[in-house]
Amino acid sequence: MQVVYIDQDLCTGCERCKEVCPADAISGEYGKPQAIDANKCVFCGQCIQICNAFVSNHAKDNLCIKKKKKERNMLSSVKEPLFAAYNIGHAPLVKEKLRDKSLFKMVQCAPSVRVSIGEDFGLAYGTVTPGKMAAALRRLGFDRVYDTNFGADMTIIEEVSELIKRMSEGATLPMFTSCCPAWVKYVEYFYPALIPHLSTCKSPHQMQGALMKTYGAKIDNVDPGCVYTVSVMPCTAKKFECQRPEMEDSGYRDVDAVLTTRELAYLIKEAGIDFKALPEENFDAPLGDYTGAGAIFGAAGGVMEAALRTGYEFITRNTIPKVDIEEVRIGTGVKRQNIKIGDREFRVVIVAGLKNARPLLEQVKEGKADFDFMEVMACPAGCISGGGQPKVVITTDN
Ligand code: SF4
Repeated sequence: MQVVYIDQDLCTGCERCKEVCPADAISGEYGKPQAIDANKCVFCGQCIQICNAFVSNHAKDNLCIKKKKKERNMLSSVKEPLFAAYNIGHAPLVKEKLRDKSLFKMVQCAPSVRVSIGEDFGLAYGTVTPGKMAAALRRLGFDRVYDTNFGADMTIIEEVSELIKRMSEGATLPMFTSCCPAWVKYVEYFYPALIPHLSTCKSPHQMQGALMKTYGAKIDNVDPGCVYTVSVMPCTAKKFECQRPEMEDSGYRDVDAVLTTRELAYLIKEAGIDFKALPEENFDAPLGDYTGAGAIFGAAGGVMEAALRTGYEFITRNTIPKVDIEEVRIGTGVKRQNIKIGDREFRVVIVAGLKNARPLLEQVKEGKADFDFMEVMACPAGCISGGGQPKVVITTDN
């Protein structure tokens, strides 16, 4: 399933997408339309964020704009320019499902979305709006508004238990995180022999989706077959991940559709909801409750910090004396750290930006890895810089 495309009519061949593509999946001559190799693309959407070749929505050729919106599966009311690099949308499909009275609609939101969606409504960069987002989702018609942070908390308990088990039993190490679907795809495409190093855990939104379809359905006393689940993500790769055939082992598809942060903003605008004026509302309980560990997954190093906090409690059976583990925080690039917990030493590596992972993977391939656990997030600063986040539009066209 392909998720990210380059429109051959709009691409000017500036090659900026080629420069940022971490999988070397984009090719073409300078000045000519670029092409994506579907067998290499990991769907991170960094090409979408960098692309500045566009056609304005006010362009004269209205018919062509309409056709392109249809091809891209976008809402027809979206006013933003159409860029050459784009992802397939799901907003029209979700809108249709929200109208379907036979369905019980549940939504979950990733931590990075609440930090950025305000930008699309003129709020200052970094304005955190979880309450307004929850209110907007209810007004759009969702019956339950849950939080991916709950799933992130579960992921960390599962992942750290797996790491401790692997270390105790001498199983395959180093272990790699599996939260980022672009990273998982990268290992599958380019280093298939290293697949056993990936944690067996699903990503947080897939775990949460499975719970919403099963436990969530039970709480509300509805037939799981009538539950429709949507994830709002900063990520384009998660559109691919939710369609993976294995993501339905409860008997129901974990997540039926993924909306990016941009798509949610379009839906809110189209519905005429005044985002800034919305009251602050809470997420629904119990699948909207979470700890601080779940909340830090959005930034690179967050998964590692959460894992070490939980690992401390699992190993020592004591509450961690200092919850912040600054040693594993990272902006971009690679960071190595040795952390002592009880009588064990955890040699960890945190990688932000997929391009930085290759030398470490080569090390693992050659049997020379000197670390036990590696977190990799494909996007340059983790999910906060994901391919589905609000896009800075530089345009003089109107
Ligand atoms: Fe998606 Fe986050 Fe991975 Fe980027 S870093 S591809 S946003 S999961």
